[in-house]
Amino acid sequence: MTNYNTNPIYPAITPFQQPHHIDDYPTGPGCPSAQLVEGHAGWRTFRPIINQEKCTACWLCYLLCPDAAIFKNNNKATINYSFCKGCGVCAKACPMNAIDMAKENENER
Ligand code: SF4
Ligand code: SF4
Repeated sequence: MTNYNTNPIYPAITPFQQPHHIDDYPTGPGCPSAQLVEGHAGWRTFRPIINQEKCTACWLCYLLCPDAAIFKNNNKATINYSFCKGCGVCAKACPMNAIDMAKENENER
């Protein structure tokens, strides 16, 4: 599994804080950083692969990824495989057909 804690293009993991008051809970769909606090790549059956040559940096995949697993890197979409659950939304939405879903290799999770 990718060591997402040391790669500078990924946001830092936000440690889980036990809520003690209703105000401590996030008001949106995720924690304040919009990033899950644990990796869940083990759920994947297929993984998205971005063809960087085809990517036009429209950021649709970035906006639609339900797990905030897509990041901007040198003006290209990049996937944090530690958080990607392999739902395929990005591949379905990409207007350039730049994302393919490939069978997950157990050794690369
Ligand atoms: S949706 Fe496709 S073209 Fe747009 S940023 Fe993502 S990979 Fe690139
Ligand atoms: S497959 Fe799903 S979770 Fe993974 S990067 Fe694409 S939209 Fe995000």
